[in-house]
Amino acid sequence: MIKRSFFSLNQPRLSYDLLEPDLKEPEVIPIPASLSLLLPEAIDSTKQALIKKGDAVKKGEKLTLYHDSTAYTISPVAGTIHLFDSYSDDFGNVATFIIIKPDLSKSSGDGTVILDPVEEIGFADQFLQKLPGAPPFGLLANDDIKINTIVITCADTDLLSTTSQYVGIKYPEEIKEGANILKRMTRVAKFCITLPEDLKTQVSFDSIQVLKTSNAYPATLPAMIMKNHLNMVLPAGKMPYDMGICFVRAEALVSLARVYKTKAAVFDKIFTLIGKDGTRHRVRATIGTPLSKVFSRFGIHINEQDRIIIGGPMRGFATFTHHHPVLPDMDTVIVQDRDIIPHLSDTPCVNCGKCIRICPANIPVNMLVRYLEADQYEEAADRFDLGSCIECGLCAYVCTARIPLYQYIRLGKHELLTLRANA
Ligand code: SF4
Ligand code: SF4
Repeated sequence: MIKRSFFSLNQPRLSYDLLEPDLKEPEVIPIPASLSLLLPEAIDSTKQALIKKGDAVKKGEKLTLYHDSTAYTISPVAGTIHLFDSYSDDFGNVATFIIIKPDLSKSSGDGTVILDPVEEIGFADQFLQKLPGAPPFGLLANDDIKINTIVITCADTDLLSTTSQYVGIKYPEEIKEGANILKRMTRVAKFCITLPEDLKTQVSFDSIQVLKTSNAYPATLPAMIMKNHLNMVLPAGKMPYDMGICFVRAEALVSLARVYKTKAAVFDKIFTLIGKDGTRHRVRATIGTPLSKVFSRFGIHINEQDRIIIGGPMRGFATFTHHHPVLPDMDTVIVQDRDIIPHLSDTPCVNCGKCIRICPANIPVNMLVRYLEADQYEEAADRFDLGSCIECGLCAYVCTARIPLYQYIRLGKHELLTLRANA
C-alpha cells in the first residue's frame, strides 16, 4: 500500500473567513410547532418499540427505539411524539426522524428532566452525546482507543463559516470550564486549542496551549493541524484517534459547562447561514428545528432545484429537503440559487493535472477517480492512495471537467470501509 505523506504541500489558494471585529449576536429562531430529531437507527417492524406516536415526552428525555438500542436522541422540548419517519443519508445509511410537537406550557417543572450529572465519561457517553457541538463522548469512552491529546477547534474547518471563531471568542470562560470537566472525566493531560493566526483577540485560554492556524485553506483540517502543530503525519487510512488525538468543537465544551452548571441538557445550536446572495447570518436555533423555519426568518425562499448544503462549500453535502433539521454538529448551512449552481458535466477527465497539483496529500487524483468510478475500491486504496486523502475538496474545486471528485472519494472511502467490515 502506498503511504504517501504530505510534506511537500502545494500552495493553497483559498482563505478562511475571519470573524467580524464587532461581534454580531445570533438571530434567535423561536421554537417551531414541530421538531425533527434524527436517531441513527432504522425502524425494525419485527421489534417491540419503546416509544410510539402519541407518547408524551419531557424536555431532556432520552429516547431510544428498542431495548437493545445503543443509538439515542434527547428531546429538546416537552411535548408529544407526533410521527416517525425514515431518513437516508447520502451513503444510503438509514436512520429515523422522530417528530415532536412541543407543549410549551410544560417546558419547565414537571416537563423537564433534571440531570444529576457526574463527572464520568460513561455518564457523558450515555446522556450527553447530543449536546450542541456534538461532543465525541462515544470515542472518548471507548476503552480500545487511547487518547492523549484533545484539540479544541476554535478555527473553522471550512470556508465562509465563522461559527467556531464566534463561540471561541464569545465564551472563553465556559470553554475553559468545559475543558476542565473533560480533563477530570478523561484524565487526558494535554489540551490544545486552534485559533486563526490573523484573528485579533485578547481572550486567554490559560493553560490550554493555543495553536495559531494559518488562514490558508485547508490549514485547519485535522490532518493539517497534526502535521503543522503536533508534528505528526497521519498515516494512510488512519484517523486522528488512531494516533491518540481527539478533536472537539469549542461549542461542545460550552455545552458541557452549561450542563454541569444548570443540571439540565442544553439544546441551542449556533451556526452560520449563507443566503442565496452570499449574505452571512449568525443563527441560534433549537436542535431539531426544520431549516425551513430558519429560511423563513431571513426571507430566503427555496425554489425547486435550489441547493441546500449542510456544511461549508468545500466539504459540505447537499440535502434534498428544506425540512432537514438543525443537528448538533451543524456549523454551516448554505443556500444556492439554482441559476448559479455550477453544472456537473459528463465530460471525461482531460488530464489537465490541476487536481494533482493542488492536492495537499500529493494523490494522483485523476487516476484514483478512474478506479472509484469503476467501483474498484481496494485497488483505489492500494495503488492510488485513497486512504491518504484528507477530504479537503480542493481537487473537485479546480477540476476542469467538473467531475465530482470529492463526492467520489467520500463514497469510495465509505464503500471500502463497508467492504472490509464485511470481509
Ligand atoms: S479531497 Fe482531493 S485534493 Fe483534497 S486531499 Fe483528497 S484527493 Fe487531495
Ligand atoms: S482536474 Fe479533473 S480534468 Fe483535470 S486531471 Fe484532474 S480529474 Fe482530470
